[in-house]
Amino acid sequence: MKNSVLGVIESVAKLNEKRLALKSTSGELTYGQLWKQSENLAAWLIENSNNDKPIMVYGHKNPQMIVCFLACAKSGRAYCPVDISMPKNRIEEIAEALENKIILATEEFELEGFDVVDSNQIEKICNNKAKEVRSDRSYWRRGEDVFYIIFTSGSTGKPKGVEITADNLKNFAKWSAKHIDQNEAEPVKFLNQAPFSFDLSVMDLYTSLTTGGTLICLDKGLQADVGSMFSYMKENQINCWVSTPSFADMCLADHSFNQTMLEEMNLFLFCGERLAHETAAKLIERFTKARIVNTYGPTESTVAVTSVEITKDVLVQNALLPIGVPKDGTELLIVDEEILITGDTVGKGYYKCKEKTEEAFIYIEDEKGQKRRAYKTGDKGYYENGNYYCTGRLDFQVKLHGYRIELGDIESNLIACEEVEQAAVLPRYDGDKLRSLVAFVKAPDVEGNSKDVKALKTILKEQLPIYMVPKNIKFLKNMPMTANGKLDRKRLEAEFL
Ligand code: AMP
Repeated sequence: MKNSVLGVIESVAKLNEKRLALKSTSGELTYGQLWKQSENLAAWLIENSNNDKPIMVYGHKNPQMIVCFLACAKSGRAYCPVDISMPKNRIEEIAEALENKIILATEEFELEGFDVVDSNQIEKICNNKAKEVRSDRSYWRRGEDVFYIIFTSGSTGKPKGVEITADNLKNFAKWSAKHIDQNEAEPVKFLNQAPFSFDLSVMDLYTSLTTGGTLICLDKGLQADVGSMFSYMKENQINCWVSTPSFADMCLADHSFNQTMLEEMNLFLFCGERLAHETAAKLIERFTKARIVNTYGPTESTVAVTSVEITKDVLVQNALLPIGVPKDGTELLIVDEEILITGDTVGKGYYKCKEKTEEAFIYIEDEKGQKRRAYKTGDKGYYENGNYYCTGRLDFQVKLHGYRIELGDIESNLIACEEVEQAAVLPRYDGDKLRSLVAFVKAPDVEGNSKDVKALKTILKEQLPIYMVPKNIKFLKNMPMTANGKLDRKRLEAEFL
C-alpha cells in the first residue's frame, strides 16, 4: 500500500500528526486531522453511496476540499474538483456527465436532482467522534484506477474530463518532489495559487502532501488585494512558489515583491504557459536566494513532464526559454513539429468520450516494433542542445492568464445564442503575450450597440467561466469568407482586430 499515493500520504501523516498540512483564510488542518477526517468521510461514502461513480467536489480554497479529495479516493471513487468560478450551467453539465447523485460541497451550492452534502454535514461526518473509523483499505484507489477527473475547455463547446490514474499521480509526485529542498525539521511552505479545478494545483498539493510540506492557499479575495496577499505570503513564510508565469508577472508589477519581502523564498516552480524571458530575468534579479524552474506539460499527462532550471546562463543563451528535459519514465517525441508524450503519467483519456480519447491518445511504434501509448499535445516544439522547446500551438487553443481555453468552445456558445448566425473569436497579442480575446459575431437582427454587447456577455457568463468571456465583442454585417466558403480568420485579423 505504501506504493500508492494514499499510502505515501498516510506515512507522512503518521510521522507528522501535529504538523500543519493546509492553511487558507477559511481554516487550517494538521496532517493528523486531515487523515482522520478523510477516514471518517470515506467510511460514510462507502456506507451511503451505492455506486463507485466519480464524485464532484465543489468549492474553493477551504481545507475541507482536500479532506473530500482524499475521502473519495479512500472510498474507491475518483473525485472531480469544481471551483466556484464555474457557472452553474457548466457545473450541471459536469454533474450530469458524472452521473453520481452525491455532490460534496464545501461552499454554498444547490443543484436540482442531486444530493448535495454541504459543508456543515461534511464537518459533522468528519468529526463524528462516536464513529471514528479506519476506512477499508481494499477500497483505496490504486494502480490504473482513476484518481481524479479535471474538466478542461473543449473545442465543441462542452468541457472534457481528463482522467488521471492513481499511478499517474504517484509517478508525477515522485518526480515533482525532486525539485524541492526537503528538510526533515522544517516543512516546505508551498504556495497554492491555482484553483483546485486547474491541474497546476496538483503540483503544489501533492508535492506538499507526499513530502510533509504545508500548503498555503490563496483564495480569490486575497488574490484581488495585492497588499493583503503579500502580507499573507510573508506571514506564512512561503518558500516554494508554484504558479503560472502570469501570476508572477502580476506580483512583479509591485517593486516590493522581492527577497526582502519574502526572505525564505528559495524556489519558483512554473507551469501552465510560456515562461517569458523578461519574467525569469526579473525574478533572478529580485530573488537572489531562489532557483527558477520552468516546467511544461498538459493536464492529460498529469501537470508536467519536463523541467529545467533557468539560470543567468540559460537567459544569456536563449531568447525563447527551454522547457527542459523529460522526467524519468517519460519520453517526448517530435512528430511533424508536434510534441508527443509517452510514459507513465499519460492519463487514461477523456471521461466517457471515446472518440476524443482516440483522437488525442494514440499508439505509436518504436524502433523495436513495440506499440506505445502517446498523447498528442497539439503543441509545436523542437529539441536542441539537450533541451526541448515549445514554440506555440497547432490548433485554436490559447492560454489567457494561465487558463486553457479552446476558442471553439467560446464560438460554439456564441452560436448557440438565438440571434447569432456566425461567430469567431481571435486572440489579441501584445508582443508574444496574449492580452485579451475578441469575439466577432454576425447577428443580422441585432443593432450591435453597447446594450447588445452587454446582453451577449451576460448570456455567455451563464455558460462559461468568466475568464472565457471575450473582453470585446464586435458585431459585423458580414464575416470575411475564403473562396471555398470558410471563415477567413486571416482577413478577420488583418482588417478588424
Ligand atoms: P493545461 O492542460 O491547462 O496545463 O495546459 C497545457 C498547455 O499549456 C500545454 O499543452 C502548452 O500549450 C501550455 N504550456 C504548459 N506549460 C508550458 C510551458 N512551460 N511553456 C509553454 N507552454 C506551456
